[in-house]
Amino acid sequence: MPSSGPAPLSESDPYTVGTDHWHSLPDGRIQCDVCPRACRLREGQRGLCFVRGRVGDQVVLASYGRSSGFCVDPVEKKPLHHFLPGTPVLSFGTAGCNLGCRFCQNWDISKSREIDTLSGAASPDALAAVAERLGCRSIAFTYNDPTVFFEYAADIAQACAARGIRSVAVSAGFMNPKPREEFYRHIDAANIDLKAFTESFYEKIAFAKLATVLETLEYLRHETSVWLEITTLLIPGHNDSDEELTRQCAWIAARLGTDVPLHFSAFHPDFKMRDVPPTPPETLHRARRIARDHGLRFVYTGNIHDPEGQTTYCPGCGEAVVVRDRYVLNDYRLGDTGECAACGHRLPGVFDGPAGDWGARRRPIRLAPPASRPGPHDRRRPAAENTSKGER
Ligand code: SF4
Repeated sequence: MPSSGPAPLSESDPYTVGTDHWHSLPDGRIQCDVCPRACRLREGQRGLCFVRGRVGDQVVLASYGRSSGFCVDPVEKKPLHHFLPGTPVLSFGTAGCNLGCRFCQNWDISKSREIDTLSGAASPDALAAVAERLGCRSIAFTYNDPTVFFEYAADIAQACAARGIRSVAVSAGFMNPKPREEFYRHIDAANIDLKAFTESFYEKIAFAKLATVLETLEYLRHETSVWLEITTLLIPGHNDSDEELTRQCAWIAARLGTDVPLHFSAFHPDFKMRDVPPTPPETLHRARRIARDHGLRFVYTGNIHDPEGQTTYCPGCGEAVVVRDRYVLNDYRLGDTGECAACGHRLPGVFDGPAGDWGARRRPIRLAPPASRPGPHDRRRPAAENTSKGER
């Protein structure tokens, strides 16, 4: 259900831009077509994600050029283990989310209704310049789901690409095909949350649909050049049974192949699920065993101390080629393009030169306030130019 928020939407707001993916309904409402939530909006209403809403005869994005924070992190934290290992990534987010996960660990950002006061300003060019100045090899859209601000993220990705900086999406993959294609054509790597392997979990706990997420995974794997890794947060009693994990791993092996890295990470009680205990390490070890038994070659544990479960082994000769302890690389035995130093087998992923040495550092960044509005604002367009407009 759409919701009305305290801050009225306005076309004159410098952070509000027109969008393309929506259509008019016979009853006078306008439906947003960015995600399967399909919010149907009357004048002034915001969608469930809160950052998109209706102004006049179009759906607008009200967070273009706004940020909820920046930090330089190790890319392993996204998590991505086969993408420019050891390098720093500029982590970035806005506000709002199109899911409703009861266990959200970023709920202060994803469910923020205070975007006017929470956010700093950052144009795509300014962000790309900051990433370059800080020596980041990539930028990650990560604190909240980039689906809800994908036009802004795509512009940032293009500004970064012009400076040789790659872009990473950390997303739940709950997005419709057309905007998904428009967004991911600018993205180099993605970590998609596969939150569970039952529709009932998605329906009751994440307020989304498993089928859409599986479609996104297959799309990324087979129809794009985006480097793909998957994360599943294991929540005791909700998505960690042998039976469910077996089905999930069998599906990944059969539909995506055995080279897609899979991360199992530990849940910590948060948001609306404080009554569920943290994930025992044994659950992560068990999940990893099941995945490896199904032939998955790169299966990692996260949020626990487990060097064995965080190390990459060469599928060619079995050598430990990237020895990790959480986000720190303790040993690195790959060549510049990811080939094993012992046997020459080339590992799947994006490898470009020697490993970085960023380590586990986390460096918060403050941007100077802009002298003027953030721009570019040439996305703003009159409703008549919207090619998606019209009834279905
Ligand atoms: S992107 Fe936001 S407004 Fe659009 S359908 Fe999804 S939740 Fe609703």
